[in-house]
Amino acid sequence: MKVTRNEVHERALGAYLGFAVGDALGATVEFMMPAEIQHAYGMHRDIIGGGWLKLKPGQITDDTQMSLALGQAILASGGWNAVAAADAFVGWLKSKPLDVGNTCRRGIQRYMVEGTLAGEPSESDGGNGACMRNLPLALATLNDDAAFTRATPEQCHLTHCHPLSDAATLALGNMVRSLIRGGGIKGCRVEANRLIEDFPEFRFEPYPKRASGYIVDTVQTVLHAFFRTDSFESCVTEVVNCGEDADTNGALAGMLAGAAYGVSGIPGYWLRKLDREIKTRIEEQTEALLELARRGGK
Ligand code: MN
Ligand code: MN
Repeated sequence: MKVTRNEVHERALGAYLGFAVGDALGATVEFMMPAEIQHAYGMHRDIIGGGWLKLKPGQITDDTQMSLALGQAILASGGWNAVAAADAFVGWLKSKPLDVGNTCRRGIQRYMVEGTLAGEPSESDGGNGACMRNLPLALATLNDDAAFTRATPEQCHLTHCHPLSDAATLALGNMVRSLIRGGGIKGCRVEANRLIEDFPEFRFEPYPKRASGYIVDTVQTVLHAFFRTDSFESCVTEVVNCGEDADTNGALAGMLAGAAYGVSGIPGYWLRKLDREIKTRIEEQTEALLELARRGGK
């Protein structure tokens, strides 16, 4: 199959913008339960801001901010560099962001105090915080599977040291990379099946209907919706209406759906709502990360 540079760019940009759209849409209903969302909005489908963070319409949260920080560190270093990534997260934490996940905060503070690039493995590190921000690394290593496989656990361990977080971050990253390279939803399903074979706890059929920030709940919610819908809008809408960690789950669903259906598959009324400056930064980063991936060769 001949895949043009334009198609790759269209899907990569779809993944990154789709991620931010899912974050902005889901943030309104983060930490709500499905019945509460139903009561407040019927079906939540508009980027209106608000939520517990009292956001402006189109404003994004820590998920997109940490991704942009990681992307910037990768570009400044000309590739993966754990110290640069850790420093970028410190810079982000010092910018007093609106929200910071507990495990992320703990990990960044550990680096600030001890200078270590990983903590001890911990039961409490099974959140989705490392997985949520890994897209820039997936783009930078688009043509180099070994580099992606090597760097991803290092990225994760800066804040989350947990085998299920590692496995999910590798799997979702391989799914999005496969989609961008033109492998289609079938290729993506192969990656999902591989994850479930290695770690059966991620089985999402039948769907257990839990959508918290625990990495297993996140992966099940995202994959269940992604594989049974056929558009960006239906996939992301289904996920955010599951509530709980709606912004992070929405972002990861938007990442996969954006890669599958391309940037043209993201509804214009959502893209137009997205914070302008964030949209521009994502466009610039996507371009630069793909260029880095090309220069990496192979
Ligand atoms: Mn968030
Ligand atoms: Mn969240």
